[in-house]
Amino acid sequence: MKNEQTECRRCGTCCGKGGPALHLEDAGLIRNGSLPVKRLITIRKGELVLKPHEDEPQTAACELVKICGTGSEWQCFFFDEEQKGCLIYEDRPVACRLLQCWDTEAVEDLVEKDTLSRLDLVGEKEPIRKMIETHEQLCPCPDLASLRRAIAAGETIDLQTLQRMVNEDIRIRTEAVQKLKISLAEELFYFGRPLFQLLQQIGVKVKEEDGALTLRL
Ligand code: SF4
Ligand code: SF4
Repeated sequence: MKNEQTECRRCGTCCGKGGPALHLEDAGLIRNGSLPVKRLITIRKGELVLKPHEDEPQTAACELVKICGTGSEWQCFFFDEEQKGCLIYEDRPVACRLLQCWDTEAVEDLVEKDTLSRLDLVGEKEPIRKMIETHEQLCPCPDLASLRRAIAAGETIDLQTLQRMVNEDIRIRTEAVQKLKISLAEELFYFGRPLFQLLQQIGVKVKEEDGALTLRL
C-alpha cells in the first residue's frame, strides 16, 4: 500500500524509541548549553545497537554520543509526554531534523557517519580527558555481537581478561567520581555504561566477591 504521509504528525513515536545519536553538526548545541552532558550517554564502539532494518542489535562500528532516555525507559529525555512534543524543538539535533518516518532515506544516510565522540567535546586540558583515554586503553568494550555469538556457540571465552577489564572499569569510574565529583548522569557520558552491565546483557553472570567483580558463564 502506498504511504500517503507527507508531513510529521508530531505523534512522538520516533522520540519514544530513544534519543538520537549526535553528529559533528550538533557540537554547538552542547557548547551553548542546549544539550548538557548530563543528558547524554555514550555508546562505546563494540556495544550493541539496533540499526535500521536489522532485527537484532548489532555491534556499534564507532563511538556514539546519544541523548539519554527517561529513567529506565528508552524514550528521549526531551520528549514531553503530555504535550506530545519536543522540549528542545528549535535546538533539536540534525538526526531529528532529518527524520521523516514516511521516508527514512536521509536519516539512514547519517547512520555512523560524521558522528560526535566524547573527545570532540572534552577539552584537551580537562582532567577527565586523560581518564577517558586511559579507560579506553585499559578496558575497551569488546565486540559484543561476536562475543554473544561465541557464548551461544559454547566457544572458550577469555573470562580472566574480561574480569580484569570489568574491575578496571569500576576502578576508573570510582576515581573519577571521587576526584572530579562527577554525577552518575555525567559518568554515563564520560565512560558509557559499566562494562559488567553490558556483559550481563549477553548472558555473562556477574558476582561481587571480596570487593571485586567475578565473571562466569
Ligand atoms: S516523524 Fe513520524 S513518528 Fe516521528 S513524530 Fe513525526 S509522524 Fe510521529
Ligand atoms: S530531541 Fe526532540 S525530536 Fe529529537 S528524539 Fe528527542 S524529543 Fe524527539
